[in-house]
Amino acid sequence: VTIIQTDFLVIGGGMAGASFAAELSSANRVVVLEQEEQPGYHATGRSAALHSELYGNAPIRALTRASRAFVLGDEGGESFAQPRGALYIASADQLSALERFAAQPDVASATELVDGKEACSRVPILRADYVEAALREDHAFDLDVHGMHQHFLRLLKARGGQLLCDTPVQSLEATAYGWRVRSGEVEIRASTVVNAAGAWADDIARLAGASPVGLMPRRRTAVLVDPPHGLAFAAWPAVVDIEEQFYFKPDAGKLFLSPADETPSEPCDAYPDELDVAIAVDRVQGAADLPVNRVSHSWAGLRTFAPDRSPVVGYDAEAPRFFWLAGQGGYGIQTAAALARTAAALALGRPVPTDVLDHGLAPDALSPLRFRKTLTTPHAGGPAMEALS
Ligand SMILES: Cc1cc2nc3c(=O)[nH]c(=O)nc-3n(C[C@H](O)[C@H](O)[C@H](O)COP(=O)(O)OP(=O)(O)OC[C@H]3O[C@@H](n4cnc5c(N)ncnc54)[C@H](O)[C@@H]3O)c2cc1C
Repeated sequence: VTIIQTDFLVIGGGMAGASFAAELSSANRVVVLEQEEQPGYHATGRSAALHSELYGNAPIRALTRASRAFVLGDEGGESFAQPRGALYIASADQLSALERFAAQPDVASATELVDGKEACSRVPILRADYVEAALREDHAFDLDVHGMHQHFLRLLKARGGQLLCDTPVQSLEATAYGWRVRSGEVEIRASTVVNAAGAWADDIARLAGASPVGLMPRRRTAVLVDPPHGLAFAAWPAVVDIEEQFYFKPDAGKLFLSPADETPSEPCDAYPDELDVAIAVDRVQGAADLPVNRVSHSWAGLRTFAPDRSPVVGYDAEAPRFFWLAGQGGYGIQTAAALARTAAALALGRPVPTDVLDHGLAPDALSPLRFRKTLTTPHAGGPAMEALS
């Protein structure tokens, strides 16, 4: 048996675990355990790679705004963002949904309301008889997800941290000094365990003797198709249905489409369902003239949500020195930079960074303790929490 001693043991080497581990490793010993050979194998490697400051609920939007300087390289590092822009479109039936959304002060200040004609001039495949109005967002970017993930993993290594792949956590035992964590022939003794296990985070909580918070992995399908012939499409903004029934955007010479599906799933290696692929094409064709002869590629991944769709970040109420970093939903790339700094501060008992607060984050919105009022049976799973919320 190999024994490793560390301050923080992070379970999961996706964007959440990698960014947090890099942040903490500047002054602490950190080990990351990843069950797969490749740390980006699950949600992190399957995203749409969009940074949109309109996407998600208020805490998500605050964290995304607070991550902008990092992705643009304005904090002195590399840039991981390319200009993309976004158009949140509404049909005549959806105008009230668009107005409700635009009434939120942070959304209003980040967008411009444009009419259907302007929306169609920016993305000529949009149908003039469909799009009534749109919100134009200029601060939307395509992210280099792989580059960002590797950046955090390199930083972790340079600061003396370790990533062990192919090392699934099999048991977690609270001891006098902290935690004894086992994976095959490896034993890790850690003062603190960090649960960044994505779709598996509630399973990890159960292994540690903590109550699950009711996380629900939801499958989302992504489809690549050939762009329409003869149109210069590479600079089109991402087009997002205001009620999130579909979205599409240019992606390396193809068009990326999604039906914005959220099918509940067990934690697993997700695969696309043929029906969802067809629905993606059908929904986009409802709003745009896009002949599709062939789907070049499709995939699916799990976006894992807490019942209120905000991330779950902080120490558990029951299990000692057990820290949650889960529930990033469909926003774990665009929020990673600010979420990692916020989580590191909370893990070390320090104040949340002031720039993140200034962007409007209320830290209590992330606390795992917010679920304890409604969760009465210690081992109730996700569906039970959904029924309550
Ligand atoms: C189709 C799709 C589109 C998306 N689009 C966007 C987007 O445009 N913008 C955006 O910001 N986000 C987007 N997302 C969401 C984003 O991908 C996720 O929020 C983010 O990747 C979550 O990161 P994570 O590290 O929490 O999860 P993961 O990347 O899933 O990492 C968790 C890791 O934990 C490991 N693990 C689990 N159990 C164990 C164990 N017992 N032992 C060791 N390791 C374990 C897993 O192997 C996994 O690698 C999208 C997701 C999908 C699927």
